[in-house]
Amino acid sequence: MHVPLVDLQAHHQPIRDELFAACERLIERGQFILGPGVEQFEAGFASFIGSRNCVGLNNGTSALHLALRACGIGPGDEVITTPHTWISTSWAIAYVGATPVFVDIDPVTWTLDALLAAGAITPRTKALLPVHLYGQAADLTRLEELARDHDLVLIEDAAQAHGARHDDRRVGSIGRVGCFSFTPDKNLGAFGEGGAIVTDDNDIAAHVRRLRDHAQTSPHQHVEIGYNMRMEGLQGAVLSTKLPYLDRWNDQRRRHARRYNEQLRDVPGLVLPQATDPDAHVWNMYVVLVESMDREAFRKRLADRGISTAVHYPTPVPFQPVFAHLGYRRGDLPIAEHVMHHCVSLPMFPELTDEQILAVTDAIHACLMPAKRRVFA
Ligand SMILES: *Cc1c(COP(=O)(O)O)cnc(C)c1O
Repeated sequence: MHVPLVDLQAHHQPIRDELFAACERLIERGQFILGPGVEQFEAGFASFIGSRNCVGLNNGTSALHLALRACGIGPGDEVITTPHTWISTSWAIAYVGATPVFVDIDPVTWTLDALLAAGAITPRTKALLPVHLYGQAADLTRLEELARDHDLVLIEDAAQAHGARHDDRRVGSIGRVGCFSFTPDKNLGAFGEGGAIVTDDNDIAAHVRRLRDHAQTSPHQHVEIGYNMRMEGLQGAVLSTKLPYLDRWNDQRRRHARRYNEQLRDVPGLVLPQATDPDAHVWNMYVVLVESMDREAFRKRLADRGISTAVHYPTPVPFQPVFAHLGYRRGDLPIAEHVMHHCVSLPMFPELTDEQILAVTDAIHACLMPAKRRVFA
């Protein structure tokens, strides 16, 4: 059996007709950059997240970049963030001329360790930038407290966590600004690139709205350096069409995660992902640690049985050559280094079938179970 990491054909098939109708309306309206489709999505997504404003952008990297700019983060400022993430989180800090300060991750959730973050605060620290990794909220209770006590801006990288909750609030609505990406492999995906910020702060929303459109205060008036980071009409139309299904898709992901957990519970040398609140996690990825076997050998064995896997992510961001000047050394971030050395992402998407899950877990049993204890589901 072939089990892909993500199956976009299966994902879109049930709503094909609605998606085509939305594209048809777009063609008839002829408004391909911003326009009513994007406005409808912004209103819908703001209300879904529980934020006063949403501003649609061209991708998630831009969302992080403009969030930091609109919060006034710049040269000389330090931003505390996680080493275990996609590079975009740190790009945004570098783009505004600030310095990323990396602290290790929590050994259970693999998100920014709030106690270590507290210890890294200096007089130059201006912001905290946690990532809700793989669909699970970072420790927002402590991070919110830290931000309040030290007068720091809390910005959430929620690019992997559309609809995830922290207590009874959706992530993205908790910090000053929440940043989202809508690449096709995220929980809510566009037909290409897309991003957005959400915020309760009307001034920040207005500033991001201006920055995304060449910083025009009125047509052909540019008061500061702006960008072309507008969301396309097509992406607004597609995202509006898909948004009503997001909670249902997230429920399906949670069901698949539970099934993986049951099937993989007793596999020696395999560390399963921990959900601090199982109802709040939205499982953009299901990531295990393979500690008892070489990672690439493990992935090859699964690939031989038709199972696709990936590694998110292999290298702590501060060890990337581009950040070598920051001076981080092997051993500085032991938990992140361990997780990034052993992590493997298993197939995860809402339409995953029970047969596909069992094909994955059987393949893992065949790899890692001692022969006499092997269990066939
Ligand atoms: C996907 C992602 C981004 C950036 O999104 P793009 O739309 O690809 O620019 C940022 N941060 C994290 C954690 C992501 O997973």
